[in-house]
Amino acid sequence: MDALVALCKRRGFIFQSSEIYGGFNGFFDYGPLGAELKKNIRDCWWDDMVRRREDIVGIETSIIMHPKVWEASGHVAGFSDPLVDCKESKQRYRADQLFFAPVVIDGNTVGYVSALESDNTAGDLQAAAESLKRKKAIQGQLAPVQPRDMTEAKPEEISLIPSPATGEPGSLTAPRAFNMMFQTNVGAMTDGSSVAYLRPETAQGMFVDFKNVVDTGRVKLPFGIAQIGKSFRNEITPRNFIFRSREFEQMEMEYFIHEDADWAKCHEEWIAWCEAWLKSIGLPDSHLSRYAHPKEKLAFYSRGTVDIMFRYPFGVQELWGIAARGSYDLTQHANASGKPQEIFDEATKKKFVPHVIEPAVGVDRIFLAVLCAGYAEEDVTDEKGNVEKRTVLRLSPRIAPVKVAVLPLLKNKEALVGRAKALHAKLKRRYAVFYDDGGNIGKRYRRQDEIGTPWCVTIDFDTIEKPGDTFTLRERDSMQQRRITEAELFQLLDEQVF
Ligand code: ATP
Repeated sequence: MDALVALCKRRGFIFQSSEIYGGFNGFFDYGPLGAELKKNIRDCWWDDMVRRREDIVGIETSIIMHPKVWEASGHVAGFSDPLVDCKESKQRYRADQLFFAPVVIDGNTVGYVSALESDNTAGDLQAAAESLKRKKAIQGQLAPVQPRDMTEAKPEEISLIPSPATGEPGSLTAPRAFNMMFQTNVGAMTDGSSVAYLRPETAQGMFVDFKNVVDTGRVKLPFGIAQIGKSFRNEITPRNFIFRSREFEQMEMEYFIHEDADWAKCHEEWIAWCEAWLKSIGLPDSHLSRYAHPKEKLAFYSRGTVDIMFRYPFGVQELWGIAARGSYDLTQHANASGKPQEIFDEATKKKFVPHVIEPAVGVDRIFLAVLCAGYAEEDVTDEKGNVEKRTVLRLSPRIAPVKVAVLPLLKNKEALVGRAKALHAKLKRRYAVFYDDGGNIGKRYRRQDEIGTPWCVTIDFDTIEKPGDTFTLRERDSMQQRRITEAELFQLLDEQVF
């Protein structure tokens, strides 16, 4: 992760937000290459999800909606994470990410240890227990620790669990619900009547506009409404770089189906679609897995939720959630607004509220996943037999921020430069391309490898002296070179960048 974060900064993918003021925890800026990569992820999703399908339409709804939307959806009452305060250090922890265990020696509890969730939480707690045993100089057999998180602590245990900030017990509070919606005031008044929220998800826009789309969009069940946009959550502990931030971007789609439709089959089809799409933008099968939420942990209205998980360097984590939500959301809005959210069934001549399958994913989490999967440091041997290191980002041509770099072999040879500039001008009308004439050609290749450019095209003496007007095409992954004509180059791009 450290190498990746450094690369993101060095090459202008991601910066800390407000860096000159010391940064702002949980917020990030995307630099020139990051903005391109992010746009490509969004565009691929929009093309595949909306434009290339006949059954899905796209919309764009406002970030601040009527506050009643969030009451009806359940977010005002229940969109919260359990929070634990340390009264001493003023640190705040998510209770389900703060783990503890009693230290048991010869069957007696002699104290408690705590640790923040990591990829080795049990190991950290065991080490802390051993250290406590040594510190207290107690003889006997230390039992293996049994980790629990703070939501599972009994009331009498709270004051015995040490704060991770101070190492001492007595300062942690019992968990309480912390609502994660950002509040603001709309209009000139700042009293209770003007309170509004920044949306914590884009999904409610699709539910609230359901009738508008049905009445104007010529859609027929089953059909979907999709949206891409910013969401905001006042996360207690933003962490793991852009994985969990306070401002992020979501790509969500609500797929409406008949109340009698086989929802489980439709759910499975969407899970498979999402997996296939992730592979189409270059995520390897080996890093992907599924997690089905246990029935007893689902919300009462939910029929099933499966998360597509990705193996990040900091552990296997949720990338994309696919939920079967029944008719809950439309029914809630029908009840709260007094406006029926129904569809007329021609076959039975009855009205009903459709059910919904919801695939919801974060652009930033996909961004991080493609960087993690694509990043490599390798030893390579040049033609002279010298071994050197190269950093390479193996990004799919679909999403790579730069598709082709155009490189004249020498910058002081007019014929080479003229041909390179002509090619560059033609390519940039359709693709994100880069012109680079600085430094030796090997260095220029390395610079492109590091930002994930799939192809470099070198305009060399063969181009201008030999018949055929061919260039050297150098591939990022194999580093192999071959000669290619302009027409062949455009054909290659047409096939690979879609
Ligand atoms: P988590 O359990 O990781 O907090 P969640 O289950 O609350 O996520 P959803 O409400 O299902 O997430 O949101 C859908 C998707 O939005 C997630 O799968 C994830 O890709 C993305 N997402 C959610 N919260 C964040 C965040 N704080 N930062 C970045 N992406 C997020």
